[in-house]
Order: sequence, then structure tokens, then C-alpha cells
Amino acid sequence: MAGMTRALLLLLSLLAAAALAAPASQPAPPWQGLVDAQSLAKELLVELKYASTDNFMKRNVYGSLRRCYLQPEAARKLAAAARALKAIRPDLRLLALDCARPLAVQKLMWKLVVGTPAQPYVANPKTGSMHNLGCAVDLTLAARDGKPLDLGTPYDHAGPRAQPRLELAQLRSGQLSAAALANRLVLRIAMVQGGFLPLELEWWHFDCAPVAEARRRFVKVP
Ligand SMILES: [Zn+2]
Repeated sequence: MAGMTRALLLLLSLLAAAALAAPASQPAPPWQGLVDAQSLAKELLVELKYASTDNFMKRNVYGSLRRCYLQPEAARKLAAAARALKAIRPDLRLLALDCARPLAVQKLMWKLVVGTPAQPYVANPKTGSMHNLGCAVDLTLAARDGKPLDLGTPYDHAGPRAQPRLELAQLRSGQLSAAALANRLVLRIAMVQGGFLPLELEWWHFDCAPVAEARRRFVKVP
């Protein structure tokens, strides 16, 4: 009996491990009419951080997903933002760090952070995030050769230094350099000219529409 219980426990732990390795069971992209943003924004650079171990979870939760999929409207706005950037800073390119995120991945991320200090930074899959709707993009600026610029903090920095609403005070106190703030403003101007909405809490995140409107118009990527 004890042997059977052990075998059952082993089987259950294997099943749990398989469930945590979720992305393999995701439907193949693109989903529900989403488009590859690079098909419209030819010069867009893409390096999805959650498809590597270089992220706050220290693990690849995106499996083989490597491309920046967005709602067609968001992809068109991103192409417009890339053109706006080219007009003001032809020496720079947009570098996308996160785009559409499947709900299956959101559930996995939630499982990994729930009860940890990182929990406030991950949306509960019940409500979901604008990334689940394909209506948000996280990005930074890079030189023409792809080398990322300094925008004051690393991507996904969990603290007040990532918050645009505090950046003028941080500039005054010396916590944010003038060069990093200038880079943030270049990114923000290009994205706003493209039609995106910036966030007050994360310099890298931009929405393609107001949240309520996006929830009405778009469905979550499975
Ligand atoms: Zn984001």
C-alpha cells in the first residue's frame, strides 16, 4: 500500500511538473487574427525577455515563442511609432521586449509569483493583462546595431525608479540621469506619436487603447 502511495505521489509530482512546463501545450501562434509586428514595422528589433532566463522569474516561460504578435491595430501603431522615431532619431531603433502573452503563460507566471514579493507585478489571470489582449507592448530603445540604450533601470525593475510619474523628482535628486530621462522621452514621444498610451508606473509599457475599450474589443490570447 505504501509503495502504491509513493508511486501515486511520484506520478502526481510528475504531472505537476509537466503542468508547470506549460508552453508546449499552447496553440501555435499567431492567434485570433494577431499579426507579427515585424511584418509591418520592418526595422523593429525583438527580444522577448520571457523567452529567456533573463527575466525576474529566471526561467523561460514562453517556450518557443520568439516573435512579437499584436492586434493588427497595435502593429500598425507600432509601425507608425517606428517611423516617428526615425524622423526624430534616425540613429535609433525600437526594441520590443514583450508583446502578446498567451493566457496559458499568464497562468503559469501567476503560479510562479503568487505569495512572493513579485506577486504585485504580475496580473491575476482572472482579470488578465493588456498583453493577454495583444494590445500592449513593452519596449526600449537600441542603437542601429541593436545595443540597448540606458533608460534608467533594467526592464521589469520592481521599484519607484521605473515609474515615469516620479522621474522629474528623481532627476532633481540625481537618481535618474538626464541622459536616461532624455532616452525615455524619445521613446515616449515616438510611441505617443504612433498612437500608444504610456503608463505612469513602467517606462517600458505602452497600451494600444484605453483598458476598458481594449477589454470590450479584443479577446484574450488562449
Ligand atoms: Zn507590459
